[in-house]
Amino acid sequence: MSSYDVLEMARSQLRTAAQYIDLDEGLLKVLSQPKTQLAVSFPVVMDNGEVECFNGYRVQHNVSRGPSKGGLRFHPDVDLDETTALAMWMTWKCAVVDIPYGGAKGGVSVNTKRLSRRELEKLTRRFASEISILIGERGDIPAPDIGTNQQVMGWIMDTYSMQAGYTVPGIVTGKPISLGGSEGRIEATGRGVVVSAMEACDHLGLEFDEQRVVVQGFGNVGSVAARLARDEGATVVGISDHKGGLYNPKGLPIRQICEKYTNFDGGIHRFEDAETVTNEELLELDCDILIPAAISAQIHKDNADNIKAKLIVEGANGPTTPEADQILSDKGVLVVPDILANAGGVVASYFEWVQDLQNFFWEEDEVNERLAKIMRRAYAHVHHTMMHHKTDMRTAAMINGVERVAMATIKRGIFP
Ligand code: NAD
Repeated sequence: MSSYDVLEMARSQLRTAAQYIDLDEGLLKVLSQPKTQLAVSFPVVMDNGEVECFNGYRVQHNVSRGPSKGGLRFHPDVDLDETTALAMWMTWKCAVVDIPYGGAKGGVSVNTKRLSRRELEKLTRRFASEISILIGERGDIPAPDIGTNQQVMGWIMDTYSMQAGYTVPGIVTGKPISLGGSEGRIEATGRGVVVSAMEACDHLGLEFDEQRVVVQGFGNVGSVAARLARDEGATVVGISDHKGGLYNPKGLPIRQICEKYTNFDGGIHRFEDAETVTNEELLELDCDILIPAAISAQIHKDNADNIKAKLIVEGANGPTTPEADQILSDKGVLVVPDILANAGGVVASYFEWVQDLQNFFWEEDEVNERLAKIMRRAYAHVHHTMMHHKTDMRTAAMINGVERVAMATIKRGIFP
């Protein structure tokens, strides 16, 4: 699926939600567009002395409810349209879980696997400097996403602080704990996914510890979701990374696999005691809960009908296309949408930011408890909207998110 489709997909979801709340035409126009788009092209001197040029973006979609918040993605497919779609989803996501942020996203089109550590650092610092006209601890706060991590956030914090002349820990979240990061942040998205899955099981009358789970993607989100699902008693029968997957109907030893493949560079398929499967086969495995936690548009019109899970909990952003949504809905599959299910990351980022601004840090238990509470509250609200409007859960989450953003925009009024 091209990135144009991802933006159109985000806009089509907005139009659907708008119909339920009789959203004013003018407001729909405002919410369909990003507030600010910055595209930069910048050079990096590579280790061999040659100069490479990279394209990067930072998009702020809406700031009616607070500073904009959203990750930075380093991936070859990053472009302006995809970044814009992801920024829109961030706006709704922050509103769905009711934290005081708007939505943003950014990224660089680059294959980080081809960079040395020194090249990655130089690229990150130059990109941070290029987007420093937009980001700020009170205005727009980046975080990690695909291809970026704690170290990248640390370099961004340092670069921004060098320009400011003092340390600004609140400029990014997802930092190392030693630089003002939060306990519990690394696990937060996967934890939120599992809390959502458990809430969904409750509503469906299913015992979570009797479910067989398949997880696509074994990075930050997928590996934590798999481990915590296992810790909660579910049987994780399938996992994968970009190189392929593993299947064992009796359950996979997730902790052991996590210990063996800690650097997430692909290769879990090399684990011996399980059958190997392709990513396509993985999605269609016999299981109860499917957690897509890799990239977008993995569940589409050509495979949706073959999916056996009765519950899909979206760890990734945009893993299900609108056509697939329709097929899954007709089959009676409950899809807990990305803007609810994977919101745990941004909730913990919000906690990190609050701690940084106050220079006062919390214990991990406190972070996890507050996170679970917010996720359960958001799940209950979305579930209520779903029942009230007799619609699917994605539309219900969009209704909640769009309604909150629309209300804030109306209350603020249009300047001047
Ligand atoms: P990551 O880079 O840590 O891991 C991505 C994983 O997906 C890796 O295991 C990689 O091998 C795998 N992968 C990549 N391409 C694949 C493919 N074609 N098929 C199967 N697997 C593939 O990234 P992450 O932080 O875990 O993010 C995963 C998803 O979750 C993304 O969609 C991201 O936007 C979303 N997300 C992440 C966070 C967060 O806090 N990290 C928060 C919300 C949403």
